[in-house]
Order: sequence, then structure tokens, then C-alpha cells
Amino acid sequence: MKVENLVRENVKKMKAYSSARDEFQQQAAVYLDANENPNDDGLNRYPDPYQKVLKEKISEIKGIAAANILLGNGSDEVLDLIFRMFCEPKEDNIIIVPPTYGMYKVLAAVNNVAVKEVFLKDDFSLDVEGINQVVDEKTKLIFICSPNNPTGNLMRRKSIAELLKYLNCVVVIDEAYIDFCEEKSWTAQLDEFPNLIVCQTLSKAWGLAGIRLGMCFASTYIIEVLNKIKPPYNVNQLTQSTALEVLGNIKKYEEELTGILKEKQALKEALEKFSFVKKVYASDANFWLVKVTDADNLYQYLVEKGVVVRNRTKEYGCENCLRITVGTSLQNGRLIEVLKYF
Ligand SMILES: *Cc1c(COP(=O)(O)O)cnc(C)c1O
Repeated sequence: MKVENLVRENVKKMKAYSSARDEFQQQAAVYLDANENPNDDGLNRYPDPYQKVLKEKISEIKGIAAANILLGNGSDEVLDLIFRMFCEPKEDNIIIVPPTYGMYKVLAAVNNVAVKEVFLKDDFSLDVEGINQVVDEKTKLIFICSPNNPTGNLMRRKSIAELLKYLNCVVVIDEAYIDFCEEKSWTAQLDEFPNLIVCQTLSKAWGLAGIRLGMCFASTYIIEVLNKIKPPYNVNQLTQSTALEVLGNIKKYEEELTGILKEKQALKEALEKFSFVKKVYASDANFWLVKVTDADNLYQYLVEKGVVVRNRTKEYGCENCLRITVGTSLQNGRLIEVLKYF
């Protein structure tokens, strides 16, 4: 398969904006090229449009060459760029596999791209046959979230590999929760599949939802095109420096991760003791999908007690389900205490 054939014609033809920082990349004594305020306050200069230093750090941690990395203002921006690279508005379509992350559908709507839904099976696994049945020559992207939000499960490697191998479209694997499980990232397969895009984020395990840093891993060809269409300074200086600092402290990250995973088990055991809890679904992420007798009622009760969880009862296959993020020992304890009086 040739990924080039899936890219929009206008995108293939266009030239990127050439910023001051593109045209002069060496070090200079005096910068009078970007109409910045010359007084140094640490932030008066435009940031590096390609985040070279930060990418080197990510490259080192993930074992992926910087040329295979694109960074964005959260995964939201990365996903939007992927739509704009491949999907012709009003012509092309994408496939999503509900229940899944809500942003894929929203971004499709914004970009005026049709959505085909192939629901997950009862065990929340991929319906590969169903996907094969709806895919057509205008299908450009398939979004697979693994571990999946809101169900928490990983999708089988064999199923995803079949999609990558046999379909003539790009498979986007959203690994926002990959840090919480033992499974190895699909980034190891980038050389094997030219139509593979993997998205990760610093918003979950890395504890940096506030700085907005999304990561995209793909072939150098895909990364080059995404670089061409992205806003030049899409990752601001404060985000780049904070990310670099936090990524430099792997020990803290690992300690917090261990803590969250320990609390995750304790939370499950505590939840299962309540008679109104019907099922706690298996989870490879930092949350539990919990089936209860009356989700709306329980959700409302918790809100009144000052504890907010996510009510997913309206999602396909998630009737009477709440999605509960694993908090600190204290936060989880508060939830359990409140649940005792429901
Ligand atoms: C939380 C989450 C993200 C992260 O999005 P950011 O924009 O990077 O904060 C991405 N995908 C899924 C499925 C998520 O649940």
C-alpha cells in the first residue's frame, strides 16, 4: 500500500509557511528577524517550531527517532492534523469503534467527514469482520483506542495487525493509557506498517494534562507532511520546558505509576463489596468501568456528596456504567466512604 495515495491533493501540493526560525537556524548574537520584543524575559522569543531538544528527550525515553515524532498542543491537535492530512471534507469517511473516545467523532464533525461506526463486540473486542464490511474506497482512517476509553481493555494485537495489513487506510492507534499496562507500544511496528500512526500523551501517567502535550509517532513521510500543515509554533515555550523537566525525572514518574497501580487494585476490591456494583470490567488503564444498578441515580448522589465520576450510561454497550478514575488513597477512600451511605 502507498500512504501517499491517501493524502489530500491540496495538502500534497501546498508549501509550508516559512517562519523566521525556519529560515535561520544557527546561533546568532543579535536576532532582529521575527519582530519580537527585544527585552529578554525568558519568553520574548518564539519557541522552536520543531521542539528539537524536547524530541531528543522523548526519542531517548521511547526509543524512537526524532524524525518519527510530531508533537502537538495535546492529542486533540495531533488528531485534528491527521484528519486534515487525509480526509477530504464531504467526500471521505472514517471508521470508529464505539464505545470509544468521543473526540474522534467531534473532530470528524468539525472537518465535515462522515463517520462509520462498527460497534465493539460484547467483550469489547474489535469486530474485524464488521470493519471489513463497511470499509470502502473513501475510508481514510480507522481509530483504535488501546487500552480503550471508556472500557479500559487492550485490543488484540492480531486484530489490529489484520487491519494494518489488509485495509487500504491509515490505522490510528490511540495509546493515551499505554503507560499503565505491560503491553508494548505499537511504535515498535512503525517500520513494518507505513499506514500506522500511534498517538500518546503526557496528560495521563506523566501528570501533565495542564501543559497540553500530545505525541504522534509515524513514518518519516507522514511526520513530514504533518509538520508541513501544523501551525508553526503549536507547542509553546512553557510547555516545551516543563515537559523537558518532568521527562527528566523518570524516578518520580515510576513511583507515581506504581502508586496509582497499587491504588487501582485496592479500589477494585473495595468497589466489588457493594451490592449495587454489578461488575467491574477488566482494565489496562488508570480507571475502572463499573456497572451498577442505577448509574444516573448513583452519579447524582456522588455529585451531591462532592465526588465526580464519569457517567457513561448513554454510551453503546455501557448501560448503567460509571467510569471511575483511580485517585490517591485519600481520594479513593473518600469515594468508598460516601458509597457506604448510598
Ligand atoms: C485522555 C485521552 C487523550 C489525551 O488527550 P490530550 O489532548 O493529549 O490531553 C487522548 N486519547 C484518549 C482516548 C484519552 O482518553
